[in-house]
Amino acid sequence: MTSKDYINREDKFGAHNYHPLPVVLEKGQGIYVWDVEGKKYFDFLSAYSAVNQGHCHPKIINAMTEQAKKLTLTSRAFYNDVLGEFEEYITKYFGYDKILPMNTGAEADETALKLARKWGYEKKGIPENEAKIIVCADNFHGRTITIISMSTDPESYKGFGPYTPGFITVPYNDIDALAKEIEDTNIAAFLVEPIQGEAGVFVPDQGYLKKAYDLCKKNNVLFIADEVQTGIARTGKLLAVDHEEVRPDILILGKALSGGAMPVSAVLADDDIMLVIKPGEHGSTFGGNPVAGKVAIAALEIIKDENLAENAEKMGKLFRDELKKIDSDMIELVRGKGLLNAIIIKPKNGKEAWDVCMKLRDNGLLAKPTHGHIIRFAPPLVINKEQILEAVRIIRETILSF
Ligand SMILES: *Cc1c(COP(=O)(O)O)cnc(C)c1O
Repeated sequence: MTSKDYINREDKFGAHNYHPLPVVLEKGQGIYVWDVEGKKYFDFLSAYSAVNQGHCHPKIINAMTEQAKKLTLTSRAFYNDVLGEFEEYITKYFGYDKILPMNTGAEADETALKLARKWGYEKKGIPENEAKIIVCADNFHGRTITIISMSTDPESYKGFGPYTPGFITVPYNDIDALAKEIEDTNIAAFLVEPIQGEAGVFVPDQGYLKKAYDLCKKNNVLFIADEVQTGIARTGKLLAVDHEEVRPDILILGKALSGGAMPVSAVLADDDIMLVIKPGEHGSTFGGNPVAGKVAIAALEIIKDENLAENAEKMGKLFRDELKKIDSDMIELVRGKGLLNAIIIKPKNGKEAWDVCMKLRDNGLLAKPTHGHIIRFAPPLVINKEQILEAVRIIRETILSF
């Protein structure tokens, strides 16, 4: 079978809810992936920052396969001998009293919203069914009905109503707008991405998160950080909020929590918040399964053992500096933090970000456009200097060829 055959088969039998770049991958190792014809590529998407530790990291795969041979799932109807180990490890790692384990990022976001509402009723004294949560314009938190109810992107919400009520939208990176809305005593929480990844790697002004956090504290509102994409060393610190020394009341993690091996997500909070959810009030059949526990511990160990936050910071700086040297009017802007970066493409001779990504593919580097004119560059964090320079050479030659 050729790449074309694989693509046609997916097209025929799979729902058309994605528009993938036409490349069919069959193998991954570290920062590289290979297609079914054997061609090797730099992976500059890392499965939307799920593969921070690099493809098929041997420590993760070993943890996964060893546990899979012993016990894969008990459900939470019973205890297992791994969940507690994972819970102790991750809570100490991030400095919270408790974790609630889930699978996908969207589920972890949903969990955080439920926690915040319940906290609002039980601890803040908001009248029943009147809790509100402030969210940001251009957010991305996943694809469930409730989550798309807080989206401002018609592609995400249009045609899927009726929507879940109880959300107030403020512009991102606008502290005054937040200050105005947050005084409503029915507000339970403010939910924010420290950097808006899907919106096109939009980095807020330095100080925005801290000011937002202070406003939350002043008004007895929970500060919830969705670090599903920005967390786990991606932006040059363990968490993106660490750049402003903010400690979220509720922290949401996913994606790289498993190094891309399987869906593992988590919600972290202290007892005062987490214990408002009582037995039977929330759960997940697969959440906290023993394979996920072992995989997540390995994935988090790698971040520290291999100094990936530090490497992301250094390599990211080098990458942006080198990109800025490319002399082309097609690159309107280079932005990002650590190894979460993007360029804004100004169309040239009718060629847009998609065309650039197609040519990057031909030249051996995989990246994906977002919102038509933005290309995100987010390689696995195990990338080294020589590889960054080689990738930049490919990007430069590609851009200059238009
Ligand atoms: C990817 C993402 C999610 C959703 O995660 P899924 O695992 O796809 O459900 C939520 N929030 C942010 C910030 C994300 O980038």
